[in-house]
Amino acid sequence: VGEGGEITYKKIQSSQIMGSIQLGIQHAIGGLASKPERDLLMQDFMTVETTNFPHEGSNHTPAHHYSEFKFKTYAPIAFRYFRDLFGIQPDDFLMSMCSAPLRELSNPGASGSIFYLTNDDEFIIKTVQHKEGEFLQKLLPGYYLNLDQNPRTLLPKFFGLYCYQCNSKNVRLVAMNNILPSYVKLHQKYDLKGSTYKRKASKSERQKGSPTYKDLDFMEHHTEGIFLEADTYNALIKTMQRDCRVLESFKIMDYSLLVGIHNLDEAHREKSEARKRNDSGHSDDDAEGEPKRGGLNRTRSINRQRLVAHSTAMESIQAESEPIDEEEDVPPGGIPARNARGERLLLFLGIIDILQSYRLRKKLEHTWKSMIHDGDTVSVHRPSFYAQRFLDFMGKTVFKKIPSSLKHSPSKRK
Ligand code: ATP
Ligand code: CA
Ligand code: CA
Repeated sequence: VGEGGEITYKKIQSSQIMGSIQLGIQHAIGGLASKPERDLLMQDFMTVETTNFPHEGSNHTPAHHYSEFKFKTYAPIAFRYFRDLFGIQPDDFLMSMCSAPLRELSNPGASGSIFYLTNDDEFIIKTVQHKEGEFLQKLLPGYYLNLDQNPRTLLPKFFGLYCYQCNSKNVRLVAMNNILPSYVKLHQKYDLKGSTYKRKASKSERQKGSPTYKDLDFMEHHTEGIFLEADTYNALIKTMQRDCRVLESFKIMDYSLLVGIHNLDEAHREKSEARKRNDSGHSDDDAEGEPKRGGLNRTRSINRQRLVAHSTAMESIQAESEPIDEEEDVPPGGIPARNARGERLLLFLGIIDILQSYRLRKKLEHTWKSMIHDGDTVSVHRPSFYAQRFLDFMGKTVFKKIPSSLKHSPSKRK
């Protein structure tokens, strides 16, 4: 955060980054239209296209009121192929990215990255370190070999890698799928790694309107875990095992499972309370306490299929979604679950933050300590240790098969 309370990244105002990258992406997508579709070649992973954006505009670029900048697009043809793999049409991608201002998210991470969410809730743009950008470039061919074979996955899907250059500063950005819908209230959010070392949300995080909690908080809030139908549980664990095998093969670690929980019963209670309040003369219809989006957009987002194919939590784990009839306000795709009190939950989840390769992590002193704390000292085995501990935690502590006592509660699914 900069002096005047304005958010900055590398001393550049966030609003300037946001506007400039929209111009850059618009130009990059537009430029692709003239390049015919063809099979991917290995060299497509290495290409970088650079465009200058002078104030006054040029033959290819519009005039603008931001600082002059350069915009680099990495592997444009390869990313077009990946977008196509997930059913994203060029026009739709352009609309999502550029037709409305992006929303800046508050980041609970320590890295100082900035996150932008597209107005239609589909994509997240994250600033990444130089090393992470380089790593993604190298990762691309192998990673997408996996996603091509198996698009049903909780792994992050990357749809673009860019670099905004201004005053000799580089801001690298990745575009990826958004996991947490913003038009449904998430009663709890967790960033889980399977570690217990320093895995508690900070005080300032906990004071936020919608904090992201961590492993230790989860174990405190859900001492018995979260319960899933046996089929759902099996599908989820199988997907995570498959995904972790891919991450391990690339020696990736430090990733998290991001879990957003919508509590249907809680939402009902909130609604009827709001109704009571309205009846007694107040005009407060926002019982959710969440930042609301434009009315039109909100309805559109709920009624519409997701733009990105195979991208809801339910689709990612290859399970069939049963419609939840009483609650037409809830988007499809959440994984039905129960807490220990038998309340009905919908889970939105995915694996995030995978661009930290083992090499990168070595530099961070506090993670050394955590390795020692976790008893993991054999370097070669670290990624596999990480994956195993992650899977153990998810399969035993976080998610459980539903016990019959919870099954027979009155609001049981048919
Ligand atoms: P650090 O390296 O310190 O852990 P970071 O800056 O690399 O942090 P991430 O771990 O990638 O950030 O993400 C931080 C938070 O941003 C997550 O806990 C989550 O709340 C949100 N977030 C990240 N990626 C996504 C996504 N794809 N969809 C929705 N929310 C996301
Ligand atoms: Ca992280
Ligand atoms: Ca990170």
